[in-house]
Amino acid sequence: MTDYDSDLDLEVNTTPVPFKCGTVAIVGRPNVGKSTLLNHILGMKLAITSRKAQTTRHRLLGIHTTEDTQFLFVDTPGFQQKHLNALNKGLNKTVTQVLTEVDVVLFVIEPMKLGDADRKVLALLSEKTPTFLVVNKLDLMGDKGNILPLIQDFDLEFPFSEIVPVSAKKSLNLDELLETIRKYLPEQAAIYSEDELTDKNERFLAAELVREKIFRLVGDELPYAVAVEIEKFEIIGNLRRIFVAIIVDKDSQKPMLIGKNGEKMKQISTEARQDMEKLFGGKVYLETWVKVKGGWADDERALKSLGY
Ligand code: GDP
Ligand code: MG
Repeated sequence: MTDYDSDLDLEVNTTPVPFKCGTVAIVGRPNVGKSTLLNHILGMKLAITSRKAQTTRHRLLGIHTTEDTQFLFVDTPGFQQKHLNALNKGLNKTVTQVLTEVDVVLFVIEPMKLGDADRKVLALLSEKTPTFLVVNKLDLMGDKGNILPLIQDFDLEFPFSEIVPVSAKKSLNLDELLETIRKYLPEQAAIYSEDELTDKNERFLAAELVREKIFRLVGDELPYAVAVEIEKFEIIGNLRRIFVAIIVDKDSQKPMLIGKNGEKMKQISTEARQDMEKLFGGKVYLETWVKVKGGWADDERALKSLGY
C-alpha cells in the first residue's frame, strides 16, 4: 500500500491561485453557434440567438466571473457577405478592431469542411492574439474520428494556439474551454463586480429583444433592412414604459411587419414585452410602431444616428 504524505498535499493547496481577468472575442461565420456559446457560458439569455444569420449587430459584452477568473466576452457581429452596403462595411471594421484589442479570440466553426465563408473570417484574424479553434456542435458528429481531417484543414490556414471541441447547445466541454482560456488571461483583479452580467443598459437589451422577435417572426425578405430605435425609456417605480420605432427601408416592407389586422406587430410586441418583464424583473408597457426611412442602410450618417 502506498503511504503518502498528506502534509505535502496541504502545502500545495495553500498556494494562492492568482486572480485573472481579460477579454475574449468570439468570431466565426454566421450560424456556427457564437451566441449560443456565449449564452450557455453566461447561463442567461443575453446575446440574441436565431436560426437566421447576422442577428448580433452590436458588440456585446457578457461577463462570467468564477472564484479565480473574470471572463469579459465580446460577441462580434458575424461576417456579412451578401449585401455589401455601408452597414456591413461598418460591421467588418468593428470585427478587425475588436480582434487586436482582446486577450483571446475564439474562432468558432461547426463540423463542416472549410468553406469560403470561414476563410473570409480567417482573413481577419491576427497572429498576435492567441486564437483558439473552437469546433462547436460536437453533438452532431456521429463518428468522432471524422473531426481530425476537418481540424487539419483549418490548422493549415492559421497558427491556432489551442483546438477545443465543444457543444454550446449541450454545454459539453465548456468548463475545459474556460480553463484553457484562463491560461491566456493576464493576472489582474476583476474589473466588474461579481453580480454584473453585462455593461449594456436596459435600453440596449430592450432593443435587442424587439430585434430578435422581428428576426424570428418575420420572413426572410425583411430582416437586413430593419433597425430598432428606442425613442423613449421611462422607469416609474417598478414599471418601465418603452417606446420603440421599427425602421424599415421601403414602404413595401411595412405590411410584412404589421401583418393582417396588425397581428404580426401585436405578436412581436407581446413576445418582446414578456421577455423584457422576465429580464428586468418588473412590469413593462411597450409601444411599437413602424417608420419608413428610405435607404437608411446605405446612409452612413443615418447609421451613426442609430448607434451603429
Ligand atoms: P451565431 O450566428 O454564430 O451566433 O449562431 P447561433 O448561436 O445563433 O446558432 C445558430 C444555430 O445553431 C441555432 O439554431 C443554434 O441552436 C444552433 N446551435 C448552436 N450550438 C449548437 C450545438 O452545440 N449543437 C447543435 N446541434 N446546434 C447548435
Ligand atoms: Mg449570433
